[in-house]
Amino acid sequence: MTEKTTQERPARSEEASAFAALGLSRPLCAALAKAGYEKPTPIQEKAIPDVLKGRDLLGCAQTGTGKTAAFALPILNNLRRNAPGLRGRPRVLVLAPTRELAAQIGASFAKYGRGSGLRHHVIFGGVGKMPQKTALKNGLDILVATPGRLLDLMGEGFVDLSRVCHLVLDEADRMLDMGFIKDVRRIVREVPRDRQTLLFSATMPKAIRELSQSILRDPLHVAVDPVASTVEPTSQAVYFVEKAQKIHLLIQMLEDRKLDIDRALVFTRTKHGANKVAKQLENEDFPTAAIHGNKSQTAREKALARFKSGEIRVLVATDIAARGIDIKGLSHVINYDLPNESESYVHRVGRTGRAGLAGAAISFCSGEERPYLRDIERLIRRKLDRPQGDSGDVRDGPIRRRTLKAEAAKRLTEQARVREGSQGGRSGSKPSRPGRAGGKPGGRSGGGNQSRGQGQRSGSARSSGAQGNSAGSSGNNGGNNSGGNSGGGRRGRRR
Ligand code: AMP
Repeated sequence: MTEKTTQERPARSEEASAFAALGLSRPLCAALAKAGYEKPTPIQEKAIPDVLKGRDLLGCAQTGTGKTAAFALPILNNLRRNAPGLRGRPRVLVLAPTRELAAQIGASFAKYGRGSGLRHHVIFGGVGKMPQKTALKNGLDILVATPGRLLDLMGEGFVDLSRVCHLVLDEADRMLDMGFIKDVRRIVREVPRDRQTLLFSATMPKAIRELSQSILRDPLHVAVDPVASTVEPTSQAVYFVEKAQKIHLLIQMLEDRKLDIDRALVFTRTKHGANKVAKQLENEDFPTAAIHGNKSQTAREKALARFKSGEIRVLVATDIAARGIDIKGLSHVINYDLPNESESYVHRVGRTGRAGLAGAAISFCSGEERPYLRDIERLIRRKLDRPQGDSGDVRDGPIRRRTLKAEAAKRLTEQARVREGSQGGRSGSKPSRPGRAGGKPGGRSGGGNQSRGQGQRSGSARSSGAQGNSAGSSGNNGGNNSGGNSGGGRRGRRR
């Protein structure tokens, strides 16, 4: 931010007066008018007057509500009256979970604070430390940081938080999901107790409520766009299915033309689960990628770009990686695992059906996930459609359990080993490469569910419970089974 003369300029426009009425200074109102902001958003209206008075705040709001300005504006307003920035000793610390968000917040401070003479800097991991160290040495007022890199630079003596008087934790629930909560606590301990603290979170799981109780003092509670009323997909269905059968049901659905799954964002609870499902789908020739917290930023961005462009049809994700993802025309969200935090359900399914477009949410619910389903239905105040009926476990129902290629491969290797053993260990009986032998699975003829590679004795990879029905037209508001897949022949829409 560079020193300029906007401070002297009067807030002329009507728009600016709406912000002035909240108590913001003229230079800020002018900057907002310049940015084209006509009137405050609900969270700004509710938060700004009290934050200006120095009150702590617990804000339940998502990205897109204008929450950044809700904290940045009153902070900038109050900071003007104070002393200028010092080397490595910011007066404002904003913690954000990801570098994208940190950069976005930095850009907002630049926009609103233009002409204030206040200096800000953004630091995050994954890039060189030198420019960050230099900026810190040059002095600053506002530091926006991700927790890991901040702790690193604190450890190296480049940041001292003893002068911080405004602390902001943005997207606190995401910090929790990303395993940053301990780091956040370590950082907060270094900030003087006599400070203003503002905590924002899209959801309020127990751990965030506890954190807020320990670091906020008599906070003002502001909630906008309550999570239970976010965008809704046009249909929401649940299938009762045992854990081990989920992959079969997923494949079956992806193959079912009636469901018309153009692109699916599939959610798993764990990173390991995401990798596993992605690998299984890839093995079955569905172009798939996984995104989760263990993937590098570059890998995540690349996977997302491939998904958005339609190069891959399925993206398997954990909650943390999917928050904030905006994919135009996403046809399906599939909850492979039900989330144990019911608010996450709303976030997940809100990825589809955006901007009034059609979209469907399908959830798989195993026996042990029933309590999560109850919580979700309580939160959204409606029952999900049950295309298979209410009580049912679809284990013996319409799932065509096929032998996945990986399983077939394992069996073939075992069989080959047995054969070799029975031939007295003679060489030359190398197992054939399973799965790929005999061409693509989509090209197999008639009816076999099993992935039968060459050299495999017939019947050795028998499918069980092959009943021929499709998983049902869940995408269409709980329609009944389409029945269109009987015979089990693959209908590849693998892309
Ligand atoms: P946020 O929720 O802070 O990420 O803000 C979402 C978007 O809304 C950003 O592009 C802001 O620039 C914009 N924005 C914030 N407040 C206002 C406002 N009062 N009027 C118009 N746009 C706004």
